[in-house]
Amino acid sequence: MVEDVINIFREYLKIRSVHPDPDYDACVDFVKNKADEYGFKTQIFPLDEKRPVLIVTLEGSEPSLPSILLNSHTDVVPVFEEQWSYDPFGAEMDQEGNIYARGSQDMKCVTIAQLEALRRIKCSQVKLKRTVHMTLLPDEEIGSIEGMAKFVHTKTFKDLNVGFDIDEGIPSADEEFLIFNNERCKWGILIHCTGTTGHGSLLHKNTAGEKLRIVIDHFMDLREKEAVKFQTVQHLGDITTVNLTQLQEDEMAQYYQEEVERMSQDIYHGIAMILRRTGQHLEISFLMP
Ligand SMILES: [Zn+2]
Repeated sequence: MVEDVINIFREYLKIRSVHPDPDYDACVDFVKNKADEYGFKTQIFPLDEKRPVLIVTLEGSEPSLPSILLNSHTDVVPVFEEQWSYDPFGAEMDQEGNIYARGSQDMKCVTIAQLEALRRIKCSQVKLKRTVHMTLLPDEEIGSIEGMAKFVHTKTFKDLNVGFDIDEGIPSADEEFLIFNNERCKWGILIHCTGTTGHGSLLHKNTAGEKLRIVIDHFMDLREKEAVKFQTVQHLGDITTVNLTQLQEDEMAQYYQEEVERMSQDIYHGIAMILRRTGQHLEISFLMP
């Protein structure tokens, strides 16, 4: 029986529900077919043409009571295939039983574990007092704007009469499951640094680069402070994580680089020294021909 669940899990992992063009239909069809086979009530609710929600229901003996919701998402984050030693959608299993695929942890394992848990409850003939719903939602990895944020305002969601929800968490390797009772909030911040531009041979005042430096310094100071705090609290929920993920120049920035070709050996060695201080082997590339 355990082999069956693992096979189901591996088949589910092979579905390319990867951004930017996730195959959501294949995901909900796959899980719906299994749930139908086990005799659950199922429903597909289309949020729009491309984004179906699957609802699987195990009815309780007192269905008027607020229900329990087990939620998971169907999408997975993009892959850089060249960085993988296994096909990210091959769901290969090695000799030790490790399974390799994008979404194996986040969070297709949870979906299949939830389905299997419901199946076992159903087979055990134990009748739960409350109804349990499983929902599979799209677009979680890109902020849920067209997913859960929309779904919670629908009549279909309200009719589920949810009392509480067990949502995404971390998978467990044994019989113990950690339940966290709060949610960390994510803020994506875009800071647009503008400033004086002009010929690269001059030292302009009030440049974007100087402002960017102040901004980055402050955020990195906060990051460092939180990293120190983390050593004592050891709990991600008690700290603020700060990560710089993108730096983007606009077209005017080309001006700053115009004079790079005249860079003296002194400056070159100065930059190399700064880069060495990062503790990494970072390389300098010249943008000018
Ligand atoms: Zn996730």
